[in-house]
Amino acid sequence: MAKRDYYEVLGVDRNASQDEIKKAFRKLARKYHPDMNKEDPSAEEKFKEINEAYEVLSDPEKRRRYDQFGHAAEGPAGGPGGMGGWDFGDFGTSFDSIFDMFFGGGFGGTRAARPGPERGADLRYDLEISLEEAALGLEREIEVVRLDTCSKCGGTGAKPGTSPVTCPVCGGRGQTTQVRTTAFGRFTSITTCPRCGGEGRVIESPCQTCQGRGRVRKRKKIRVRIPAGVDSGMRVRVAGEGEAGVRGGPPGDLFVFITVRPHEVFQREGNDIFCEIPISIWQAALGDDIEVPALEGRASLHIPEGTQTGTAFRLRGKGIPDVHGGPRGDQYVRVKVVTPTRLTDREKELIRELARLRGAHKTDDGPRSFFQKVRDAWERHA
Ligand SMILES: [Zn+2]
Ligand SMILES: [Zn+2]
Repeated sequence: MAKRDYYEVLGVDRNASQDEIKKAFRKLARKYHPDMNKEDPSAEEKFKEINEAYEVLSDPEKRRRYDQFGHAAEGPAGGPGGMGGWDFGDFGTSFDSIFDMFFGGGFGGTRAARPGPERGADLRYDLEISLEEAALGLEREIEVVRLDTCSKCGGTGAKPGTSPVTCPVCGGRGQTTQVRTTAFGRFTSITTCPRCGGEGRVIESPCQTCQGRGRVRKRKKIRVRIPAGVDSGMRVRVAGEGEAGVRGGPPGDLFVFITVRPHEVFQREGNDIFCEIPISIWQAALGDDIEVPALEGRASLHIPEGTQTGTAFRLRGKGIPDVHGGPRGDQYVRVKVVTPTRLTDREKELIRELARLRGAHKTDDGPRSFFQKVRDAWERHA
């Protein structure tokens, strides 16, 4: 089963602040806590999933790795990303203290009415690469279309030489207050200022390049470095190359999603690669030294005398480098013995000669021949 994206699990945006992540986690943990939710049989599973997502996303270092490599950041086993020893069996006893730990303290103050700096959106770029590129790493120039800070006004949205002024309607507070008297009493309603949209400042003469938005859509070339060992489904984060922020906020990030094209010779499994090489009956019987395709050109392989078809040989360290710096994978070469066809009369004669020499129906695939096994099985059932 594919693992769900941690952001999706917590229902937060990729740019979510630590605070937002914490809030989302608390809300979900309340809902799915096995002691709180006895009706939903999948509650415990969900609670574990939520915890796992929170454990990664609440830790800036783990989150950074996750952003960069996805679930692969948790190691090749892909096992549960460390549940920190949650034991639901005796949860009941320690429930109170854990509940306090999670849910204690306030739920954060109300959001400031005036919108502050806003981080730019993250961008996704899908990059398809070959297996060789994935193995060796690469540098590629990619082109993205994104919202960049308007260079004419420097992102203020105001015509050069002018600057945004304090909103005359709300006096810069970004909200307006109305007191209404109803049957239920007097209510003070606070609404976002309709003139400035809550920003507290208005642009009187907008920049003509960006129509006062402060950002313009631009085509940009970016060099990205893809580390050796990446695999399909991983993403590489290029910090700060997403869309420009708003009101002085930081830019978002660019995420390069990797897809590795299937290779015509090699199949990949983790960091190991597999290939199949045809050899002749003579090579299999007499042994040979052959050259086989490898990720970096060719490699030599010794075929010992009497090799059976289907035998796999390991070329240590000829696989894919580990993206996290672990040991490099291996290459496995499976040989397939090819029966010769279109024999000349002379060749047929030689093979018949050989057959006579060995006894026509004799095989020597070990202590008990294939025919012997068939006969034994037949007799047991007869
Ligand atoms: Zn502008
Ligand atoms: Zn206003």
